[in-house]
Amino acid sequence: MNVICKRCLLKEMSEASYQNIAELISLIPADKKAEDSLYKNRLEICKGCDCLTNGMCSKCGCFVELRAAYSHNRCPHENKLW
Ligand code: SF4
Repeated sequence: MNVICKRCLLKEMSEASYQNIAELISLIPADKKAEDSLYKNRLEICKGCDCLTNGMCSKCGCFVELRAAYSHNRCPHENKLW
């Protein structure tokens, strides 16, 4: 049975799946990477958002942990939540 987790990050659901995302995040150049406080703040907003399911944003199809890691990225929601 597949479990659907509303408002969960990938890291909270599957450490193995998150490892792939963590690897991609580690490859982001420092000048393009969001600062830690900004990153955490973004993910907190995602965790309170109805668009988050199984770590993925239904507005853009991205894993939010990766999308939020790029400093220039913005939330795709029409209200620009971050
Ligand atoms: S719409 Fe924005 S806040 Fe909501 S899950 Fe997507 S990126 Fe996060």
